[in-house]
Amino acid sequence: MTNFDLVIIGTGSGNSILDERFAGQRVAIVEKGTFGGTCLNVGCIPTKMFVHPADLAATPAKAARLGVDLSLDGVRWTEIRDRIFGRIDPIAAGGREYRINHPDNENVTVYEGTARFTGPRTLDVDGETITADRMVLAAGARPVLPDIPGLDEVGYHTSDTIMRLEELPRHLTIIGSGFVSAEFAHVFASFGVEVTVIARSGALLRGEDSDISSRFTQLAAQTWDVRLNRKVLGASRDAAGIRLELDGESLTTDLVLVAIGRTPNSDLLNLPAAGIEVASSGHVVVDEFQHTTAEGVWALGDISSPVELKHVANHEARVVRHNLLNPAAPIAADHRYVPHAVFTSPQVAAVGLTEEQARARGVRYVTATQDYAGIAYGWAMEDTTGFAKLLADPASGQLLGAHIIGPQASTLIQPLIQAMSFGLDARSMASGQYWIHPAMPELVENALLNLPLD
Ligand SMILES: Cc1cc2nc3c(=O)[nH]c(=O)nc-3n(C[C@H](O)[C@H](O)[C@H](O)COP(=O)(O)OP(=O)(O)OC[C@H]3O[C@@H](n4cnc5c(N)ncnc54)[C@H](O)[C@@H]3O)c2cc1C
Repeated sequence: MTNFDLVIIGTGSGNSILDERFAGQRVAIVEKGTFGGTCLNVGCIPTKMFVHPADLAATPAKAARLGVDLSLDGVRWTEIRDRIFGRIDPIAAGGREYRINHPDNENVTVYEGTARFTGPRTLDVDGETITADRMVLAAGARPVLPDIPGLDEVGYHTSDTIMRLEELPRHLTIIGSGFVSAEFAHVFASFGVEVTVIARSGALLRGEDSDISSRFTQLAAQTWDVRLNRKVLGASRDAAGIRLELDGESLTTDLVLVAIGRTPNSDLLNLPAAGIEVASSGHVVVDEFQHTTAEGVWALGDISSPVELKHVANHEARVVRHNLLNPAAPIAADHRYVPHAVFTSPQVAAVGLTEEQARARGVRYVTATQDYAGIAYGWAMEDTTGFAKLLADPASGQLLGAHIIGPQASTLIQPLIQAMSFGLDARSMASGQYWIHPAMPELVENALLNLPLD
């Protein structure tokens, strides 16, 4: 049995906790998979590296109606894939090498195995017992696997494997309708793959404000074969490919991507043995300081946060690092205005309450929308798809929610996040500064001016 001052489980955001201030502590870091975790290896970074060439590949179709004739001569999938992972894999390998062999990390022991609690602050790592005075759970989440008869036998991909395909399929079916589905549908469709998206409910991206979700669903159906209100009942293989039985119909496809959500890895850790409470969602219960219900154990990122996003995991890692270093003066995590973006086509970005949430909470609110087509740049682009929607408190003008669908939505949302985070009211924000004309942020300016405040 080896005792450490600190053990961190997971090398995604958990790996970023350590800096020179931990040099005097004996630290262990445990990793069962690829060093660097989800975002680097199979999440945010590679997906966006595919989205960028996909955006380029989709350009000819958009340019033609503006009088610019471009043609897509080809998509060299294996080159794109190898360029992306040729950049990512060395970063993962370099991170591992740094922790294992660099003199900066003389105090750090890397365990490459699966951690499982056998008691309070006591872990079994592939047969070896390690204990620590303090522990951090940063073990992330994994794709939910479906329970569809026959699917295991015919085979399917998740976001963990789809990006390393040997070749593009002719036809891809994506089961699921959230952000992972929307991003991969855009990537593969732009690369010339016929894409079918199967949604159990009546809309795609249904976690978004319903106006955004319904606009996105309507636009997606113009590009992809979108099947709403469908359940996949079974899968089998025949000479034509994989046959999926849906309620009321069937379809044949070359490849299946399952993107039906993610589940925290808390169930792999035997947390009851350590007295660590888990919510019904599978997320480890933490207080505002990211401390779990067990003395000396903190958690961060996807394993404990219902908002499974990298910027949240990064923020929480900074909070945990501070609290490990300053136990007498802990800081709380700030989860007030967590934004997100979906890098599909068109992009979607949001922060704060949806209209449905505002209604359910019974808060007083007004809304305003602004089409891209109604601002100079969007008009020049002849955009027919996008809009911004804001919710605000009519009395104070404080923004309650902001939702954008359209070009550069993930960038345009940022000033609204800033306003909400720093308490800037809509009227001051709209009128108290210059807005560059004719730039895209005029979308935000006009949406703010449209709010019918008291
Ligand atoms: C396809 C995809 C696209 C995404 N795109 C975005 C995006 O654009 N923007 C964004 O903000 N977020 C995005 N995310 C989410 C983001 O990747 C995660 O929120 C983030 O990576 C979570 O970090 P983490 O440190 O909590 O967990 P992880 O990075 O998953 O790290 C957890 C680590 O713990 C290890 N581990 C688990 N159990 C054990 C165990 N028992 N013993 C030892 N090691 C263990 C795992 O192997 C893993 O390496 C995306 C996710 C996916 C899947």
